[in-house]
Amino acid sequence: MLAPFGLPLGTTRAARLCHIDCPRMTPSPLSQRIASLPQAELHLHLEGSIEPATLCALTMRHGLARTEEEVRRRYAYRDFAEFIEVFKWVTSFLREPQDYACVVRDLAEHLLAQNVVYAEVTLSVGVMLLRNQRPEANFEALLRAAEPFERRGLRLQWVFDAVRQFGAQAAMAVVEAAGRCHSKAIVAFGIGGDELSVPTAEFRAVYDRAGEIGLHRLIHAGEMGIARRGAHRPWHRSHQRSFIDGPACGTKNPARDLPRKQPQDGRPRPATRS
Ligand SMILES: [Zn+2]
Repeated sequence: MLAPFGLPLGTTRAARLCHIDCPRMTPSPLSQRIASLPQAELHLHLEGSIEPATLCALTMRHGLARTEEEVRRRYAYRDFAEFIEVFKWVTSFLREPQDYACVVRDLAEHLLAQNVVYAEVTLSVGVMLLRNQRPEANFEALLRAAEPFERRGLRLQWVFDAVRQFGAQAAMAVVEAAGRCHSKAIVAFGIGGDELSVPTAEFRAVYDRAGEIGLHRLIHAGEMGIARRGAHRPWHRSHQRSFIDGPACGTKNPARDLPRKQPQDGRPRPATRS
């Protein structure tokens, strides 16, 4: 699928592990056949999808113009700590609803180019709130930006994501923002970030509330601690869903441990959640 921060396709760790053809190599007939099929992108982050050229446009819009070469150098992170610094830098240029609309259009074009017909996109609402933005305004702008692409065959749905190290109160604010948006396109609530910073149990009320408003419940693992089974390094753009299974967290997947409640508004349950 898409490469993290504009790296060439086929150079990502996931691509190597999955033996995806390098663009410099001749694709096999099988991989060509697979690539031609309709695709579903089950886990990607809007902020992590921003291509260098798009970020250049954002920096220019905000009067802090950077060259694409400068951006690519900043994107060359080596570990999670460096990734976080890049993430903070990139998101510092997402200041207005039109910025979000811009990156959604860019992402949607890339997804369509890869035959993606369905994607669940994680949105860092916790960062929006930290920057004193209105998530409802940003979300409305990105929904409008996505509409033309739905007519072209791409369905985007959204995961409102909180930042774990910001704590339970901030995470609850993300859930409440999802509720205020009143959109069936929001399919889940999740938490990412440093899982060693705050015990999972402190988020029980947050996940309960997410369930009450009909959201699926997700959590990242393996970013700073141990995620041994079914998990991965979520800072990698092309990662799949993960769950906590490490002793540092003291619990298993909270979305699995918490009581399940049916959505109250008929929101469809994606097949990706179990
Ligand atoms: Zn993720």
